[in-house]
Amino acid sequence: MSTKGHIIKNVKPGSIAEEMGLEAGDRILKINNNDIEDIFDYQYFVENEYIEVLISAKDGEECLLEIEKDMDEDLGVEFENGLMDDYKSCCNKCIFCFIDQMPKGMRETLYFKDDDSRLSFLQGNYVTLTNMKEKDIDRIIKYNLGPINVSVHTTNPELRKKMLHNRFAGEALKKIDTLYEGGVEMNGQIVLCKGINDGDELRRSIEDLSKYIPVMRSVSVVPSGLTKYREGLYPLELFKKEDAREVIAIIEEYQKKIYKEHGIHFIQASDEWYIMAEYDFPEEERYDGYIQLENGVGMMRLMRTEFDERYNELSELKCKHDIIISMATGVLAYDELSEYARLLEEKIQGLKINCYKIINNFFGENITVSGLITGTDLIDQLKSKELGVRLILPGNILRSGEDVFLDDYTLDDVKKALNEDIVIAPSSGDGLIDMILGILYNEGALKVSGKDKVKGFFGKFKGKSRKNEDEFYDINNSEDEFFDKNISDDDFLEENIGDDKYFDENDREDNGNFVYIDAYKNGGKNE
Ligand code: SF4
Repeated sequence: MSTKGHIIKNVKPGSIAEEMGLEAGDRILKINNNDIEDIFDYQYFVENEYIEVLISAKDGEECLLEIEKDMDEDLGVEFENGLMDDYKSCCNKCIFCFIDQMPKGMRETLYFKDDDSRLSFLQGNYVTLTNMKEKDIDRIIKYNLGPINVSVHTTNPELRKKMLHNRFAGEALKKIDTLYEGGVEMNGQIVLCKGINDGDELRRSIEDLSKYIPVMRSVSVVPSGLTKYREGLYPLELFKKEDAREVIAIIEEYQKKIYKEHGIHFIQASDEWYIMAEYDFPEEERYDGYIQLENGVGMMRLMRTEFDERYNELSELKCKHDIIISMATGVLAYDELSEYARLLEEKIQGLKINCYKIINNFFGENITVSGLITGTDLIDQLKSKELGVRLILPGNILRSGEDVFLDDYTLDDVKKALNEDIVIAPSSGDGLIDMILGILYNEGALKVSGKDKVKGFFGKFKGKSRKNEDEFYDINNSEDEFFDKNISDDDFLEENIGDDKYFDENDREDNGNFVYIDAYKNGGKNE
């Protein structure tokens, strides 16, 4: 029986693969007589109107299937390993590597140092290019993949060798030239280390990298994160307020220059620099469409813009009884969040929002982002605090797609330990306001009416269809007075539902409430 090829884990119902009789456990050996190294080969060879797929069935029998299909139609199979190959680990030992600074005894997967260009295309990971072979680059160009996210750190080859602790790291910079010549879109990243690649070295990097515009679309500059576990590692220093101001001055100087020439700002400072420098965040336009949002660049500006827009359309509200809600976040976002709390307290009479700053004792207090807060720190620092009816935590505090913190505490563990109902905030500023309104509504503290209710609640359900107009009026005239009678139907429809879409009566639960109320109970997740 063949052990070569790629094992199919699942066959999607109704797919071509199902029609061909493929089953879980079968192996795909070749497509159009080509060996399949990984997911990229697979995607590339499948994208044809006619393909021949060589299969080894579970019983070991080989057969050749001929398939005619639409060019971009997939076969509808999932493989045991998403990459269809082993994950490539890195061959560097960067002086600022976060993984080297983690305490012992955490989940094994957290210590895996990936540097796999395929994950750059699939998940947006940043790669150093040091372990990429010529054939990998050729394949990227041939398959027309992009964008690839490159951890550049410096364009000085000697310095790069030192920073990545890899004698091939300087030479690897030439791969950026090849990608550029091949027209592969790129984004760059510079992890800045004080006294190492800042100052004139940063200028040199920006000047060198800006030559790749427009193929290279952006470069972010982020400060190195230093935990308390740096014993035996390269001595790195923390950036202070004055350093942050210097970094911003360099970046903004080049933004102006580059914008004049190319119409984009290209080089971007992450939010941390502005907070550290005690400067306000730049205007929205400076983020070139928030191209580096995932890298912590512009998140705070975006959130504030969304918060302000929603806040400004909210009328003055009054709670039926006093109510307390709490929010917790890392040191970095604390002041911003406290300001949101203050503004909401001002607008909603009877509401008190306790905002708590969580010091990262787990990794050390120099780590200030909310994404690295652990369950242990939350419990230790909030257990004696007044939390009110709900504790709101930031969306990035849990591992993506799971209810687990970095230290393996689950959300339930923390809820039990604090004896508190916890909800996870949406990542948007308007979503945060709507979540708070929802909590107040659910706690019977607020009867939101008129525009606020329409925007806050029904606005979430754009696109849901309703059977007929009568039902719309039924909601409109319900006892709960969901709508302000002064809002005309046309305004309501145009502003909030749009395109003649109404609510479906199926959205009504047994108790007569509509599911959107529950959306808030659940933290607005079913938006
Ligand atoms: S490339 Fe550098 S920073 Fe990234 S995992 Fe490897 S050693 Fe760590």
